[in-house]
Amino acid sequence: MAYDPQPTASHFIDGAYVEDTSGTPIDVIFPATGEVIARVHAATPAIVEQAVAAARKAQVGWARLTGSERGRILRRAADIMRERNHDLSVLETLDTGKPLQETSVADATSGADAFEYFGAIAAGLTGSHIPLTGGDFAYTVRQPLGVCAGIGAWNYPTQIACWKGAPALACGNAMVFKPSETTPLCALKVAEILIEAGAPAGLYNVVQGLGEVGAQLATHDDIAKVSLTGSAPTGKKVYAAAAATMKHVTMELGGKSPLVVFADADIDNAVSGAILANFYSSGQICSNGTRVFVERAIRPAFVARLQERLQSVVLGDPREMETNFGPMVSERQCAIVESYIDKGVAEGATLFCGGKRLDGPGLFVPPTVFTDVTDDMTIAREEIFGPVMAVLDFDSEEEVISRANATPFGLAGGVFTQDITRAHRVIDQIDAGTCYINCYNIAPVEAPFGGVKASGVGRENSAEALNHYSQVKTVYVGMNPVEAPY
Ligand code: NAD
Repeated sequence: MAYDPQPTASHFIDGAYVEDTSGTPIDVIFPATGEVIARVHAATPAIVEQAVAAARKAQVGWARLTGSERGRILRRAADIMRERNHDLSVLETLDTGKPLQETSVADATSGADAFEYFGAIAAGLTGSHIPLTGGDFAYTVRQPLGVCAGIGAWNYPTQIACWKGAPALACGNAMVFKPSETTPLCALKVAEILIEAGAPAGLYNVVQGLGEVGAQLATHDDIAKVSLTGSAPTGKKVYAAAAATMKHVTMELGGKSPLVVFADADIDNAVSGAILANFYSSGQICSNGTRVFVERAIRPAFVARLQERLQSVVLGDPREMETNFGPMVSERQCAIVESYIDKGVAEGATLFCGGKRLDGPGLFVPPTVFTDVTDDMTIAREEIFGPVMAVLDFDSEEEVISRANATPFGLAGGVFTQDITRAHRVIDQIDAGTCYINCYNIAPVEAPFGGVKASGVGRENSAEALNHYSQVKTVYVGMNPVEAPY
């Protein structure tokens, strides 16, 4: 049975739905039609307090379980998510406007992967034994942080709720998760599923709200860590707020990543990479390679092939399985994208294709490609977060590396070439946390994901994430008489 987009109540706290209609109303809009499909209310300060208190209480008992016991529950949650993949994907499509073709394979499935991976690894969370002089020794214990706050962006609402929740819970923490106000629905289902899988009430709570609710979490004395997925400006605010109470942080922020295509690249592969790096999820992906540097000699062939491939775009109702290109998530995001397109034209780039919002209901901006883009143009410097590709020409390896790195961001970077030594040499010099050689935009749970420079702090996925949701205690053990100077 499909999920009703209107949730039972706005928040999920202590194992149950909770409502407080005195909070600011938030309408949930299906971006393909503009229809209001649900309404939730932002958490009042009292609701946030209730969620944090429930999480504190649940965390104590949860941390006392063995890793295997915790892991079993997380793996059960993964199984339930996989069984419900269709319904979860439909809900995510309604929440975000992303095509069902995408949400069916890249959202709840990726969330389930996270619960499965961290569920499996939970039993292996051990410390180390350190032999010291004269038979003394030390050992380390990996301990949870306490209550962690997760704050999500709107582009992958199910995935983000799980990417933060799974490692946090595996390490023995509890979580209070605030989804983006634009896509509040999916995280509630993650919370429901965890209860069904056997998690204790209060372990994973969801509160709705705008930035001020996130800010309340980021400054709360009883929260030990805040993990944000959002824009770089929000990241700076949350990082600064978290510093006041010395919280641990993970910051998964925006980017303006370079994708470098050398003349010897397999052009079809490179074009596929550029399509994934700019138009998947209608361009609303943080790691997108939006500065596509193409070696001058092959630029005409590259854009010609790109144009041919874009003929296969099926733009339309994202609930239809054949649709492969959906709308922008919100009127606000649509307006931001349109304003960048206007700037591209005004600053002298060549609008190669797309560029005009479609008439009618829905927030559709077709795949847009600019050529003759130069490094100083706004569309080459700022994150657009929409389906706008900037093609820049280059002549030499040295030149392109330096131009690729000339950005405050450092989330991702890619290179397409058939020269294996060049591929590694170039990637080695790209200042980014997540890099791709002859592929783009994959983020499997087995590998670390995250950025450097203004794109963030910390890593999600893989065993690396465990370091960001736990802390190490060192215990020295004296086996000999204690020597003191007097
Ligand atoms: P945003 O920064 O506007 O909001 C992100 C979240 O932060 C929302 O839940 C919002 O309510 C909350 N928030 C806003 N102000 C806050 C404050 N002062 N204190 C606490 N919380 C606050 O971002 P968005 O528009 O929702 O998402 C798009 C951005 O997210 C893009 O920049 C994109 O690159 C980035 N993103 C990054 C990753 C990654 O893994 N690196 C993944 C997805 C999206």
